[in-house]
Amino acid sequence: MFKLYIKSFSLFTVLSLLVTSQLLSQNRIYIKVYPHIMTDATGQLAISKAELEESKSQLDKIFNRHSIYFDYQCPDYIVNDFLVTAGVAAYLCDDWLLDYHNDDGIDMFIGSDEGEPSAFAIDIPGGAFGVSGKWGNPIDPNYSEFVFDPMPVATSRSSIIAHEMGHALGLFHTFQSTDYTNTMFPCSTTGLNITSCPELVNGSNCEQCGDLVCDTPADPNGGYNPSTCRYNDALTDSNGDYYQPDGKNVMSYAGLGCDKHITKGQASRIKMVMQGSPFLSKKPEPNQDCDKQILPGIRVRSSASSSFKLYPNPAKDIIYLENPEKLECNVKIINTIGEEIGSYFGLTSKLIYLPTSSLSAGSYIIHVTDLFGSNLLVKKIIIIK
Ligand SMILES: [Zn+2]
Repeated sequence: MFKLYIKSFSLFTVLSLLVTSQLLSQNRIYIKVYPHIMTDATGQLAISKAELEESKSQLDKIFNRHSIYFDYQCPDYIVNDFLVTAGVAAYLCDDWLLDYHNDDGIDMFIGSDEGEPSAFAIDIPGGAFGVSGKWGNPIDPNYSEFVFDPMPVATSRSSIIAHEMGHALGLFHTFQSTDYTNTMFPCSTTGLNITSCPELVNGSNCEQCGDLVCDTPADPNGGYNPSTCRYNDALTDSNGDYYQPDGKNVMSYAGLGCDKHITKGQASRIKMVMQGSPFLSKKPEPNQDCDKQILPGIRVRSSASSSFKLYPNPAKDIIYLENPEKLECNVKIINTIGEEIGSYFGLTSKLIYLPTSSLSAGSYIIHVTDLFGSNLLVKKIIIIK
């Protein structure tokens, strides 16, 4: 009986399937990730270096066992008073993002935890995703009351980053096409094979429906207890079979902190989707020394374009700020630990003189705003003595 069963398969097919999935799963891939961190000019609303590292170790825990590795590049800080308090992900479809776009990696935009809670990936697969704000799990798993159990912001953020990274690398939700309200991607125009048929519990349509991955059980979404990550509802699919979804799958919505793993099938899908992708590095890159940048560990890139010019750099006795349009502005001088050590208000002259006699040698940020606080110029300057 057993022998007959084996013979009914073509041995070659079985072997080649095994070899292919083996090769795919053994094959190491390295994904380049560019962290972009939203901040105010003082750097105080930006997430810390330790929090950024926490997100990396969460990704490592989930993906490394499938030979998927991440190369975080040095973060840059985006000084933008609006985006730092708005939910950054809600604005990911807007043009500003193009200023920070990298062709050869995934752009990861991280808002402040003071920002509105928002998170999404621009496409599946896609080159960018964002997350901001404080997140928690509903205290009542039936969502009848919107009371959330706050968890450490860095923990929930890391959990969300792992999920959005899954999308960026080509993974759908485990409930794709079963829960229609949560399968939309707002900036998506080219989504890869988005299915519209729910996956059946018996797995018979798993190759064409749902998340297109066969070892992730059909998932109705909802009905999870977020503290145990267990499904405790009793819904059935169209055949009348009871759902038995996997609440610990990163691509489910079981709860923050439930993001424990992806399956072999999901890892193979990522490797298939990423074949030949510009996001791949050939090999791990040497660790970069990100600490040489200004603001604890950071390079500042201003989101404002204006006609202001600041010189010389480095400067000795005086800094000149050219204001050709004679805009009325405020100027702050900020040191590398974010303290404001000098400020000037209501300046309007074409050439503004900023004396440096009271400043010791080192790096400073000159932050020029209009009278309403919008950025006109954010620039690092070095004072030599
Ligand atoms: Zn999602």
